[in-house]
Amino acid sequence: MPAGGHLPRIRRLGARLVNWPAQWWAQQSLRARLTLIATALFTCAVIAGVILVLVGQRYALTRVLDQSASRTARDVAEQLTDGRRPANPIVPTTGGIAAVQVVDDDNRMIAASAGNGLQGASLVTDRQLESIRDGARLTIDPPTFPARLRVLGRKVGGRTVLVYTELNRVDDSVRILTRAALIGGPLAVLLMAMATYGAVTLSLRPVAALRHGAADITAAGLARQRLPVPGAQDEIHRLAVTLNAMLDRIDAATSRQRTFVGDAAHELRSPLASLRVQLEVAQRVGPTADWDAVLDDVLVDVDRLDRLVGDLLTLARLDESGSVGRREPVALDELVTSVVNGYAHARVPVRAEPAPVTVPADPDALRRVVINLVDNAARYANSEVVVRVGPTTRDGKPRALLTIDDDGPGIPAEERAKVFDRFYRVQESRSRASGGTGLGLSIVRDIVRNHDGRVRLTERPGGAAGLRAVVLLPAQPGEPS
Ligand code: ADP
Repeated sequence: MPAGGHLPRIRRLGARLVNWPAQWWAQQSLRARLTLIATALFTCAVIAGVILVLVGQRYALTRVLDQSASRTARDVAEQLTDGRRPANPIVPTTGGIAAVQVVDDDNRMIAASAGNGLQGASLVTDRQLESIRDGARLTIDPPTFPARLRVLGRKVGGRTVLVYTELNRVDDSVRILTRAALIGGPLAVLLMAMATYGAVTLSLRPVAALRHGAADITAAGLARQRLPVPGAQDEIHRLAVTLNAMLDRIDAATSRQRTFVGDAAHELRSPLASLRVQLEVAQRVGPTADWDAVLDDVLVDVDRLDRLVGDLLTLARLDESGSVGRREPVALDELVTSVVNGYAHARVPVRAEPAPVTVPADPDALRRVVINLVDNAARYANSEVVVRVGPTTRDGKPRALLTIDDDGPGIPAEERAKVFDRFYRVQESRSRASGGTGLGLSIVRDIVRNHDGRVRLTERPGGAAGLRAVVLLPAQPGEPS
């Protein structure tokens, strides 16, 4: 039981230990991380460089010693040719030579250079002599000599010229270099770390300025405040410019929203004020008031409030969804016919000329588009409204074309784009009196856009009086055109 209980705990501990470096790393500041990475890389480079220099130095110095030794070996060997006895003591012909010895096959001393007390015995063992005769260059540490030696030889018949050089000069010079590297390396790494830290701090200063700038921006100050843009044309400059552009867009959206809320409140206030006045008057008059007339008037205002709130809700939902969620094949011609049938008792006749066309759409939203446009047309037409719908193609793609013509007063060309704005009315009193909310066309535009379509108002063809609303929607492929 205890073992079974310990195992998961140990495993958890192990997992935590494994994860710890990653967690620790993630907690460090960007500055610290960059400094650590740069310093680690630089340290590796310094270590590799120092090793390379030390190895190279030792190799180069040893090579110089070897060259000098080979020359002396060659010179002494020349003296020995023809079986001559070597001069005793032998005189090295090049500098830096510690000793020269000539030995016979059995490693017995024949001659040696002066000094160092080397006259007595060979400094190499028999086995070493063998490999030297085979051309090897050896590093030896003979007990009879105070320093490490490097030895190479040259065969002359049965004899061998052995030339020794002292390695302590090579060792000394490598040691000095090692010491310099041990002091200079960490110093260089430290300087590098400090320089990196400083450079990163300097580079990140504009980021800190951006952060402070962003912290200072309040919702109220959005119209005036922007993030500081650094002068250098670098990534942070571009980031600041992009963020400021985003703030501009947010600001524009916020002020649009604010205007919309203000307008909505204003629109709601007038029917409410009218309601209040009517009710107050009726209250003052008392039971003798014409209550039927009061109720009729009150209902008109309630109707208007109802329409307004309904339109506001629709717009809010459209803003929220961005694009229609539900899309299904909708027979637009049938939808138009059914809407037009609802205008049988309208002030002017509303006529439909439908041709079969199917669009992928939200049927309720599309019905709303048709109703809003036909409502407007029927409201302003003098004698007739004609609604045409059918298939067409644009840029080689199937489209559904819906046009609604009325012979009313129309809209001046310069106002035709503006009437799609929320609460925009061509003639304030005319539209308001007719019960319009000023939101009908905004709703139409939003829905059509959400269906990837386009809507616009134009003149009627042939210069006829009135207005034509044109809606173009993507149609289901494979439609007859
Ligand atoms: P409303 O619900 O108040 O009519 P809309 O957004 O539907 O608001 O219309 C915006 C403006 O466009 C209104 O001022 C309205 O008078 C005008 N308008 C819309 N359709 C027509 C039309 N067929 N003929 C003339 N004016 C129109």
